[in-house]
Amino acid sequence: MKIYILTDMEGISGISRVEMVRPDEGGEHYQYGRKCLTEDINAAVAGAFDGGATEVVVNDGHGGGRHLILEEADSRALYERPGSGYHLMPSLDESFGGIFAVGCHAMAGTMDAFLDHTQSSTSWYNYKLNGERHGEIGQAAAFAGHFGVPLLFVTGDEAACEEAERLYESPVTVAVKKAVGREHAICIHPIKAREMIRQGAKEAMSLVGKKAPWVLEAPITVRLEVYRSDMVDGMAASDRVTRIDARTIEMTVKSAREILKWS
Ligand SMILES: [Zn+2]
Repeated sequence: MKIYILTDMEGISGISRVEMVRPDEGGEHYQYGRKCLTEDINAAVAGAFDGGATEVVVNDGHGGGRHLILEEADSRALYERPGSGYHLMPSLDESFGGIFAVGCHAMAGTMDAFLDHTQSSTSWYNYKLNGERHGEIGQAAAFAGHFGVPLLFVTGDEAACEEAERLYESPVTVAVKKAVGREHAICIHPIKAREMIRQGAKEAMSLVGKKAPWVLEAPITVRLEVYRSDMVDGMAASDRVTRIDARTIEMTVKSAREILKWS
């Protein structure tokens, strides 16, 4: 049984401040954040194999990748990074039994959520699929649903886990921290959190073949509202996109693989 693990960094255990997820300004705090990321992923990979996985692919998804410390990552798994929005999870296909989303954050505009955002913390205000607000967990669920693959397991802060349970067919969740305002989190001890992730991942394996994928009804309307008009000028120039007003663009796509394909 093949499992695909999409990772982000904001919802990793032990990561409690914004500089820990920022390579450009994080310094030694970011380097420790990479260690935390690698260990949470190792826990999820171990849980997947404990639960019967035969192949695990890990996608180093935060900010385009290059955050994982590969030499310290579980050598049983395979590793890749995201491509364009169309290739969010490049090797994912119908042959996988499920996806895990590790290190998640809640969608932009969520209360009591650590570093909540959808793609851009500075410009993306609302992102809607068929009229409903979604974030990056929803994008992963929809993308996997395109291939008939269910979202089985989610880790992150409490707000991310609540979002996943409410919107995406109740995957197994493990909350490793709670936000105190947007830029600070109080964390479970990382060693304990990693044990919880390993257990949760193993439990999620029991949903393989039982849990339904999250499938958006096509054609899919994708609407993006940003903070300022110039933030969509470039995207609005695409033939695929209709400008609704100064700050809002919309496109209609045939498949969930295209929900981030603006041009
Ligand atoms: Zn991220």
